[in-house]
Amino acid sequence: MTQRPYQELLGKLRETFPAPVSDRMHDAYFVFSILRALDQLDDLKSEVPLLGRPRTLDYAAAERAELAEEGRSAEDVARLLVGQLEGMPIWGHPRTQINVVPPPSIPSVIGSLLPAIYNPNLVSDDTSYGLMLTEAAVVAMVSRLVGYDPALAAGVFTFGGTGTVLYGAKLGIEKAFPDAMDNGVPEGGVILASAQSHYCRLNVAGWLGLGEKSVVEVPTHLENDIRLDKLEAAAREALDGGRRIVALVATMGTTDAFGVDDLGAIADLRDRLVGEYGLDYRPHIHADAVIGWAWSVFNDYDFEANALGFRPRTVRALASARRRISKLHRADSVGIDFHKTGFAPYVSSLFLARDRADMQLLVRGREQMPYLFQSGERHPGVFTLETSRGRSGVLAAYANLQLFGQVGLRVLLGHLVEMAETLREHLEGHDSTTVLNAAGVGTVTVFRVYPDGVDTWTAKDRERTDPAAREELLRHNDYNRRLFRYLYERAMRGEGVHISMTDCYRETDYGEPMVGLKSFILSPFIDEQDVEQLVRDILDARQVC
Ligand SMILES: *Cc1c(COP(=O)(O)O)cnc(C)c1O
Repeated sequence: MTQRPYQELLGKLRETFPAPVSDRMHDAYFVFSILRALDQLDDLKSEVPLLGRPRTLDYAAAERAELAEEGRSAEDVARLLVGQLEGMPIWGHPRTQINVVPPPSIPSVIGSLLPAIYNPNLVSDDTSYGLMLTEAAVVAMVSRLVGYDPALAAGVFTFGGTGTVLYGAKLGIEKAFPDAMDNGVPEGGVILASAQSHYCRLNVAGWLGLGEKSVVEVPTHLENDIRLDKLEAAAREALDGGRRIVALVATMGTTDAFGVDDLGAIADLRDRLVGEYGLDYRPHIHADAVIGWAWSVFNDYDFEANALGFRPRTVRALASARRRISKLHRADSVGIDFHKTGFAPYVSSLFLARDRADMQLLVRGREQMPYLFQSGERHPGVFTLETSRGRSGVLAAYANLQLFGQVGLRVLLGHLVEMAETLREHLEGHDSTTVLNAAGVGTVTVFRVYPDGVDTWTAKDRERTDPAAREELLRHNDYNRRLFRYLYERAMRGEGVHISMTDCYRETDYGEPMVGLKSFILSPFIDEQDVEQLVRDILDARQVC
């Protein structure tokens, strides 16, 4: 029998797939291929907290790519893949303090890898089998954690924190405008959120057909939490004007400063307005807790006994966060990112609804559909925005919840907050530096550095409030930008800490942006010496900038 040409090639291609039946030799090849790639990545490590070197992004070169006639070997491809990661920050490095990106734990990486091999699809339990139970288990664990009744709550993993806000707002639309799913979204809906809330509020309003203009941005206190008097005024103005409140978004941990809204008071306000205006719907409250949710592990921590031995300053910060995070159960829905404060790889985001009956509002072609969750079978695909949903985020989240337990998360978060508090203590102790989120209780610190001769005790407030200080503010904005460049270049030489900068920490009362330097601590490997290094870097930079 003659072999046709394609058959030989097919044989080679078969070797590039995991063997469908047990084949130890081929498994060894598979695992070894991964090991080789990891080894090559290891070669990219140096004293710089990056893989390889920072590189300028050459899009013109990238756009010359075309599909070749002949494919390459698996080994070549692996090498190519490794090269693609060059320039990536090593998030677990104690001198990487750029943003809210965590280093993933080993079990969470395994949790991401296994579904990549076996490819379950969460659209239904017909395609994900027992793995649908994993999502149910994570939903139950997190429901209990935030104070929802797991027998009533429901949840789905979705495409990011943005997706969780989108689900929350969509539920709000269906409540404020019944049957919008069938008929479309009428005009007159508003979303109320703080000015410091994540900008995805605009994506959500735009994509859901409310329009970006339907978002009312409510001013915040200096601590970056929403001003309730202004929220109430905005809500009343909307209702008095005959509009309908689609959602009140409470931000439980803002991205740049860890401001936490007073969710309990927001829920009370909503309830009062429903009664007073005799509303025929209850405006939906969504808690954007993608960052703050993890602090729920302190709900049951005895801060007086403080068995884990956190320092007094840390205890105060953790207890302060708990005051508000412990109210998460007052929200109708909550967004949770495991890929932020849960140490899982992207994407791992959970949308949680307190009342599973709400999910019924999202069912496609509702008339023909059986009531959800009544039968033992689960087909989330009838109400999720996505059709195919990968399992990686779910299994990674599950892995970390099992790995850490409440105590592990307390230890990790407690240590990160302890290091951030240490940084704030140092920065407050120097004449030339001032912490902008001074009441901050999270792991992010935004600060500003001043040249000699500036009285930092008064500069911050003057720049923030006094229009006559405009020039001074802008000059110091530039100064902080220069300082940032210097620190960045130094970090890229392997000599310093890699932090980031925010172009607008807050607007001043007279409408100018206030630039801040930002340290986001999320590496479990950080120690006091790394914090001290950053402070030294900053003081050194002042000598040359
Ligand atoms: C990061 C963030 C988001 C968006 O989440 P993604 O996972 O990046 O889509 C929403 N809200 C807050 C407060 C965030 O910090």
